[in-house]
Amino acid sequence: MAAGDEEGQAAEPEAAVELAVEGPRSFKDLGVTDVLCEACDQLGWKMPTKIQLEAIPVALQGRDIIGLAETGSGKTGAFALPILQALLETPQRLFALVLTPTRELAFQISEQFEALGSSIGVHSTVIVGGIDTMSQSLALAKKPHIIIATPGRLVDHLENTKGFNLRALKFLVMDEADRILNMDFETEVDKILKVIPRDRKTFLFSATMTKKVQKLQRAALKNPVKCAVSSKYQTVEKLQQYYIFIPSKFKDSYLVYILNELAGNSFMIFCSTCNNTQRTALLLRNLGFTAIPLHGQMSQNKRLGSLNKFKAKARSILLATDVASRGLDIPHVDVVINFDIPTHSKDYIHRVGRTARAGRSGKSITFVTQYDVELFQRIEHLIGKKLPAFPMQEEEVMMLTERVAEAQRFARMELREQGEKKRSRNDDDDDTEEAIGVRNKVAGGKKKKRKAF
Ligand code: AMP
Repeated sequence: MAAGDEEGQAAEPEAAVELAVEGPRSFKDLGVTDVLCEACDQLGWKMPTKIQLEAIPVALQGRDIIGLAETGSGKTGAFALPILQALLETPQRLFALVLTPTRELAFQISEQFEALGSSIGVHSTVIVGGIDTMSQSLALAKKPHIIIATPGRLVDHLENTKGFNLRALKFLVMDEADRILNMDFETEVDKILKVIPRDRKTFLFSATMTKKVQKLQRAALKNPVKCAVSSKYQTVEKLQQYYIFIPSKFKDSYLVYILNELAGNSFMIFCSTCNNTQRTALLLRNLGFTAIPLHGQMSQNKRLGSLNKFKAKARSILLATDVASRGLDIPHVDVVINFDIPTHSKDYIHRVGRTARAGRSGKSITFVTQYDVELFQRIEHLIGKKLPAFPMQEEEVMMLTERVAEAQRFARMELREQGEKKRSRNDDDDDTEEAIGVRNKVAGGKKKKRKAF
């Protein structure tokens, strides 16, 4: 039975870049100049995300913007493209300042400016704490076009670095303003606002509209246009999403390869059917992995048992269908593997939302076989970006195939035995671990000596 049919539950979206919902409108349609459209194209940005669709035309008209959008919505592009376009029109050093709450975000933003602006020779500098101030002073002396900074360190330089000022600044971006203010950077932000020109454009982006943000908006923005994207989709800022494109018959070997490569992490592996969940769990256990299934054909007790073992870290791999995972309190996992690609794209969002929660980082890897290309394209369309391929050594995968084939044979045998046992006692229990125990006894404990590979 297809997982999506089991209990007919709707997916609860948890992470996505929101694409524009109206008909396809290109960056060019929004007024973005050709050279920047090409840069978007090179980044694989085929069409604007929703926040870009709303913010870019307004920004290009020279208006201030208050953007309600989170990391993951494409908001960096929403402010970077209009800034770069204005820079192209009136080239100037120390043109724009982006304030952001954390170092990580500062580097991410800088990467996007560099990527979008590389063909037009844009120079940007990151000014954040924890890095030697002297090298930063030297970088500032070269007068970059764009500065991406955390407020504290920038104030340091404004106060102490000789010859550095922002008196000619044309654009100020306050990114993740709610977080900036929650981190008690209010004084620093006030100091910065006092030393930059009043005659400038300001973009304020925030995930939430708190009282402090409203106050900042009143102090820093002039007659802004509000651009909001639905907050229905939560963002996952530290989720690294990958795919692997592989022949369907080698899926098991690739799975084993990845589990070895990322050993030490906790995994959640999604399969499309109860049967495949059970089979894959048996297969992995035969290879010495601590894997446990969770699916709709298990009793509630068995499901909770599986979940508790996984939570207690007694098992590092949880194999699940979409439905079994919903409505249960799944703990944080490091890596989500879409072993079977979801048939409904929104399930993808739900699945990968199992990792990178609450500011932690996480990975997701989606298996794409020759039969899944269209489904995968739909997922990329939904999340609004092209995913990178997960790096793999094919020869190493191929070296695993023999052992995997042996484990597949055992798994099939065990699955058959379980089916027969269930039919004879009309039992819905999950027998994965018992079955393995029996087989190990039959095999004289051979498995124990096996290395989990
Ligand atoms: P951000 O919300 O700005 O941190 O962006 C989140 C991710 O979406 C980044 O990896 C961007 O490269 C990507 N992105 C931004 N705009 C687009 C777009 N129009 N199409 C596809 N991906 C995009």
